[in-house]
Amino acid sequence: MRPRIAIIGGGPTALFALQALISSDNPLSIEIFEQFGQIGPGMPYREGLNDPRMLANIASREMPPLRMPFAEWLREQDETFLSRFGIARDAIDEAAYYPRLALGAYFTAQLAEIVARGRALGHQIELSPHTRVTDVVPGDAGSAVRWQRKGRGGASVHDHVLIATGHDWDDPESAASGLLSPWPASRLRMLANRRIGIVGSSLSAIDVAVAIAAASGTFDTIDGRTIWSPGEHAGTFSVTMMSRNGMLPEADAYYPLPFDPLPSLTKERALEEGQSGQAGLLDRLFALLVDDLARLDPTYARAIDLKTRTVETYAAAHFAERLAVDPFVWAKRNLAEAERLNRQRRVTPWRYAILRAHEVFECVTAELSAADLARFHQHLKSVFTDNYASVPHRSIRRLLALHDAGRLEVERVEGEVGHLGQGAHFDAIVDARGQKPRKLAEIGLPTIARTARWSKRSGNDRFRLGFAQPMAGTIQCIAIPYLLRRYPFMQGLVNAHELGETAARCILAQAAARPARPSQVPEPPRGLAMAG
Ligand SMILES: Cc1cc2nc3c(=O)[nH]c(=O)nc-3n(C[C@H](O)[C@H](O)[C@H](O)COP(=O)(O)OP(=O)(O)OC[C@H]3O[C@@H](n4cnc5c(N)ncnc54)[C@H](O)[C@@H]3O)c2cc1C
Repeated sequence: MRPRIAIIGGGPTALFALQALISSDNPLSIEIFEQFGQIGPGMPYREGLNDPRMLANIASREMPPLRMPFAEWLREQDETFLSRFGIARDAIDEAAYYPRLALGAYFTAQLAEIVARGRALGHQIELSPHTRVTDVVPGDAGSAVRWQRKGRGGASVHDHVLIATGHDWDDPESAASGLLSPWPASRLRMLANRRIGIVGSSLSAIDVAVAIAAASGTFDTIDGRTIWSPGEHAGTFSVTMMSRNGMLPEADAYYPLPFDPLPSLTKERALEEGQSGQAGLLDRLFALLVDDLARLDPTYARAIDLKTRTVETYAAAHFAERLAVDPFVWAKRNLAEAERLNRQRRVTPWRYAILRAHEVFECVTAELSAADLARFHQHLKSVFTDNYASVPHRSIRRLLALHDAGRLEVERVEGEVGHLGQGAHFDAIVDARGQKPRKLAEIGLPTIARTARWSKRSGNDRFRLGFAQPMAGTIQCIAIPYLLRRYPFMQGLVNAHELGETAARCILAQAAARPARPSQVPEPPRGLAMAG
């Protein structure tokens, strides 16, 4: 009997997992369950949930490989498709940034190709759109996947289950504070022509500001300059982004690919440090980062007196100059610099070092002690997230256009967003702070929430869940919100690729070791409480 594999959620992570699974020489039976009608785009790249103007901050050259590179696929699309997204065929570029909905169409097309390839290789692949999985119940002869499809319930048994349910936007806390969710983006159009507060000032906040501004007026490019003109009913339309630091993200910086490793802080070195003990691990890694920054960018190191900095004091020194300047003045200057360096194909050494360092830290955050992980989150993480969450130049131009038109401000706010109140300054406030980390006990699969815990495994088994009761096969959780505490940078498409491939490798190793057995649908266990 073929190993039966269920993938719950049909987003990019599922796509990468499927691609890795079909490399198996043994025939597999794979089913993908997706609550919406289309499998492939996931949440950030799906029509309806997102606005056509929302840009991806990953270029084709940086994307993990699927059947065909994104830019090559774009060149094959017809004029109707390209013109919908304002893409000029002869300007399609591996290093350019495109609307996320265009990526969604690409993922859907790639899925179809991977499925066709998988079937040609002898795998059974079943796609189950419009199917919301409501629970996963481990059993000693496989796990039951329980689902609802068009008002009808059902269950099927699988030897291996991959929970790839992705983003979770329901935020009761935020809703209780009267804040609106940015999703689906189609709802944002109803906020046109009003005074809007946005909590957050990074990627999602820019998405929200641009979508509402586009519904209240028009962005145009005249003589290479982006301007925003009010629509007929724009009236008092305005946007205020509110964040603790009052900063705007930086414009994407130029990096050559493939990356070169850092001189000292390499993945190998970080893993060695991890093996030599948890005590002082964060400080040892930080010392390596300081050495590399000092060696690669002495001017930067001198400017922030890097040698005297600690995990606790580095971020403040790193951001000090930017925090002292008006965010739009900084944005204009930073954009001009990024455009110039892009033309010259020149790297800013400190930016490059921090980008590379975040990938190294990413490998070892799971090895940090609880105290060091808390220090990392509190003091150091912001330097890395600010660096990798830089945005396409077009996004910065749009923000500057809105500001120049007198419609956009950034405010630094203290305290919790619940205290912002509503009505005094704004007609509505949108919470655009991005995905919050969640506990496994909060997952919308009741048996998993109640009985699963993270197992202390490593390597390809690191996303496997443990259960008190005996079970056959594996259940892995690679849904981003539940990983963010331990893996704070697990967010982008590169991570989706890593997650999908790692989980697939775990399944293939297990399937090779233990042949699948016929089974009955198991019932949820009663009275077990082990949630992680
Ligand atoms: C707004 C936004 C913009 C982003 N932009 C970028 C970017 O520009 N570049 C980049 O590299 N990364 C970006 N990311 C990061 C993003 O995490 C990944 O690109 C990717 O979406 C992760 O894929 P996923 O499949 O894990 O999750 P998702 O994309 O969230 O997909 C999960 C899928 O599971 C389905 N699902 C959920 N629950 C169930 C259920 N119970 N039953 C059945 N189906 C279910 C959902 O409908 C969805 O289709 C962005 C993220 C967000 C939120």
